[in-house]
Amino acid sequence: MRKDNVTIKTLRLYHSFNKKYFPMSFLQIVFSSSSPYFNLWMSAEIVTALYEGRGKQAIFTLIAITLFGNLFIHIVGTLLSNAVSLQFEKLNTNESLAFNRKTLSLDYDKLEDPEVRTLRRKIEENSWTNGYGIKHMRESVNRLMSSAVKVVFSLIFFIEMLIKIIEVGFYWVGLVLALGMVSFAVLNYLWGLKVGGKNAKYWGIVHDMMLKENRISRGTGYYGLDGRIYRQADMIRKLEDKLNREHLAIFSKANHYSFKMGVLTLILSWTSALFNYLLVCFYCAMGAFPVGNVIKYTGYLGRFMGDIALLFDTLFRSFKENEQFLKLYLEYFDIPNDMYQGSLAVEKRSDKKYDIEFRNVSFKYAGSENYALKNVNLTFNVGERLAVVGMNGSGKTTFIKLMCRLYDPTDGEIYMNDFNIRKYDYRQYLDLFSVVFQDYSLLALPLGNNVSSAATWDAEKAERCLREVGFGERYDDMPKGLETPLYKDFDNKGVNVSGGEAQKIALARALYKDAPFIILDEPTAALDPIAEAEIYAKFDEIVGDKTAIYISHRLSSCRFCDKIAVFDNGEIVQVGSHEELLTDENGKYYELWTAQAQYYTK
Ligand code: ADP
Repeated sequence: MRKDNVTIKTLRLYHSFNKKYFPMSFLQIVFSSSSPYFNLWMSAEIVTALYEGRGKQAIFTLIAITLFGNLFIHIVGTLLSNAVSLQFEKLNTNESLAFNRKTLSLDYDKLEDPEVRTLRRKIEENSWTNGYGIKHMRESVNRLMSSAVKVVFSLIFFIEMLIKIIEVGFYWVGLVLALGMVSFAVLNYLWGLKVGGKNAKYWGIVHDMMLKENRISRGTGYYGLDGRIYRQADMIRKLEDKLNREHLAIFSKANHYSFKMGVLTLILSWTSALFNYLLVCFYCAMGAFPVGNVIKYTGYLGRFMGDIALLFDTLFRSFKENEQFLKLYLEYFDIPNDMYQGSLAVEKRSDKKYDIEFRNVSFKYAGSENYALKNVNLTFNVGERLAVVGMNGSGKTTFIKLMCRLYDPTDGEIYMNDFNIRKYDYRQYLDLFSVVFQDYSLLALPLGNNVSSAATWDAEKAERCLREVGFGERYDDMPKGLETPLYKDFDNKGVNVSGGEAQKIALARALYKDAPFIILDEPTAALDPIAEAEIYAKFDEIVGDKTAIYISHRLSSCRFCDKIAVFDNGEIVQVGSHEELLTDENGKYYELWTAQAQYYTK
């Protein structure tokens, strides 16, 4: 991406979120900017009329024009500003939606990629803490339009004055005074850039420190419960105090530059204004224009210089300053979804005959050196109950994620019914699986939405699924049944559910989907062993002719499975039934079983 394209590219993207906003905002700016010029113009006319001793009627007419003109500008301005606010709201909402949709549409491997997560976090943090990024764009564009419009307005009157000056002559005096005025204004601008650069550097550091302070309590995972027990609050407070002191020290440096900038700006702009008055008064004295025009021209010239400076400032500083933040934003929107989306239709089989085969599959996570799975070979057939066991980190969840094509293998292939799973239409392939992941999440929406994962639900089916997983009693207590909102994020009347209850809802959601494969990845971790045994026993019955895969720490829960695959360090080290595996006393399964048996055999 070329550096100078960032701003324009982002502007195009931003504009596409609501094509009405910028044109309407421009119209409003033209209108509201005209007000001071109109007033200066009218004041000049009134003063000249008074000076020239024109009649009362002429003066009253001018006053009436001024008053009604202002009223008109005010009314239209207010209407326009209302309309612009509405368009801004739409722009804002569409921008947030577009950002969220981009996140939702990312390939899963991109969504989970640590670099992509960091990128997203940076974009969000910048927008909260310093307002930089896409939102800053609106401000800069409006400032650019506003200063450009004002420069054009002033220019019209500047040219009018120039013509009058030329008629009078005394070019040398005019040139010297004009040069004085312009040079001081330019000096003022250059000074602003110089000190502004240093200033921006310090403010950048201040901003980074604010981010750090912000992250201490959130980003370190500080959590009230552990915080109380281990008295972490003191530690967090001390860390915060330290950062706070550093923050204030840098802040006062940044402030010092701001002050310096302010003082010199004052002197330089004052000097520029002095030349402005000398120039206009000189030509008025020479008879180039009536005395009332002094008000008009000094006013326009002062504004002209200010607006040119603002125009340059916006073009060369404001946009530039934001460029680094916009780059992140574009980078996020430019993340390609390059996961191969197959086109082969998944056969809808009433016999649910879908066989899966892993052929020498290995997998590495993005940014990770080590293989999470190594040379995995496994076949399992329709209707089978497969248990996947192994120590923490041995690759069980990764195995499931690859099977569901959340990631593609780094090496090797996965086949379903003789075709590489990459060939199947991605969405149709995903529809084959109901999975309850270890880190499943429920939504702060009504129970019905949670079970059906859709905007509407089949109440009878949803209720049946909830009862089948043992949620019946709790369900009967729910005040509004399936309409009961979960959690309180969106609704104060929402109910909080315990870890075990939440897992049951997640299980009911898996049943409701009614997919040919049902996979439970330690879905019962929050349940006590008795509840877990009940769920597993029941699940075997509920699952019926579906293919089921269970991952569990508790080996006893997996005894009933037809086949058990034992994972160790990313590899499948044993496959067999419970009885077969126990005969190998040197095997991993025997080791795991005997380590756990003490809990269950008594
Ligand atoms: P299990 O389910 O058996 O506990 P996982 O499949 O979750 O094991 O993890 C296998 C290995 O992959 C572990 O070393 C784990 O640290 C690593 N791993 C898991 N998820 C990620 C991820 N998103 N990024 C990088 N490494 C991961």
